Amino acid sequence: AFDFARRVTNVEPSATLAVSNLASELEAEGVDVVDLSVGEPDFPTPENIVDAAEDAMEAGHTGYAPSNGVPELKDAIAEKLQGDGLAYESDQIIVTPGAKQALYETFQALVDEGDEVVLMDPAWVSYEAMATLAGGDISRVDLEPHGFQLEPALDDLAAVVSDETTLLVVNSPSNPSGAVFSRAAMEGVRDLAVEHDITVISDEIYQHINYGAEHVSLGTLDGMEDRTVTVNGFSKAYSMTGWRLGYLAAPDEVISQAGKVQSHSVSSATNFVQRAGVEALENTDDAVDEMVDAFEDRRDLLVDRLADHGVDVAVPDGAFYLLLPTDDDDQAWCTEALEEAHVATVPGSAFGTPGYARISYAASQERLNEAVDRLADAGFLD
Ligand code: PLP
Repeated sequence: AFDFARRVTNVEPSATLAVSNLASELEAEGVDVVDLSVGEPDFPTPENIVDAAEDAMEAGHTGYAPSNGVPELKDAIAEKLQGDGLAYESDQIIVTPGAKQALYETFQALVDEGDEVVLMDPAWVSYEAMATLAGGDISRVDLEPHGFQLEPALDDLAAVVSDETTLLVVNSPSNPSGAVFSRAAMEGVRDLAVEHDITVISDEIYQHINYGAEHVSLGTLDGMEDRTVTVNGFSKAYSMTGWRLGYLAAPDEVISQAGKVQSHSVSSATNFVQRAGVEALENTDDAVDEMVDAFEDRRDLLVDRLADHGVDVAVPDGAFYLLLPTDDDDQAWCTEALEEAHVATVPGSAFGTPGYARISYAASQERLNEAVDRLADAGFLD
């Protein structure tokens, strides 16, 4: 028998797997499943980005890239971040194969065995796994009683963090709630981080998918520049999930340590993909605006259609998810909704928030209407 490493056996298998396996089985049987479980835009990558990657391949950018990223892209990212009011230089950036790798390297660099990591529920599924893989102990703050908002939960956060806290993860706009945290909320985080000398990861991967709320980047707040790791990526805003391109920006010491994890694991993000990333950052604003407008229309449609059936939800201000209240056993609800209504969603308990199902509305209006009709007809919205 294998004697597996505890840091890996300690990680829970993904609670989303049961639903996605079942969805695949049904589809293989020829069932038409409305799949609202996936966390990816349904749009093709904008053409100018595809062209830039082709050009880069033709130009021979097919070899290893410098581990922390090609200078052209690091410069373009630094310029983008400076435009957001973040004072990172090019050499304070590591370009990674996806924001996920950026987060993984940050956890590996900062979290030691037994260190406290504070997460806010609902939280994206991989934060917990990454903290566990690094040996961290997780403490949680529950935003659910506060309508998934952070500002009214600041007292709860204050009660959890202490001088023992190593790392705090903030994700706004949030996966899975779609909440965008207010400036006052972020200032509250800043005050606690400074008081207790805590490093904060600001996962801003949904920054651009925002329907009008102010996006506050934590690293722009006084006192945060030396303690913030800003994580962002190309998957969501530019519909580039399969390209695997993201980055972290951080103080020099963090770059030195996280850079070792990158160079000894993945070496670098793909060379020609990084060149296409420059095109994404510099020439794709209109296409992004169009996709965000489409997400907003879909959000409105879904919220209205659910309200027609008497279901009130916390209206998301960003990302492309919303949390639909279910009965207490959200796992059973999601399994039955899939089996009986052929609509795939993800149980809230996967995100630390039982009693909800996460719906991704990165799907056409026709499919969203179909999903609501099916759920209503099968009695899931009663
Ligand atoms: N952070 C959050 C909150 C996400 O939802 C995701 C993807 O689902 C990621 C990070 C990672 O994205 P990627 O690795 O595709 O850049």
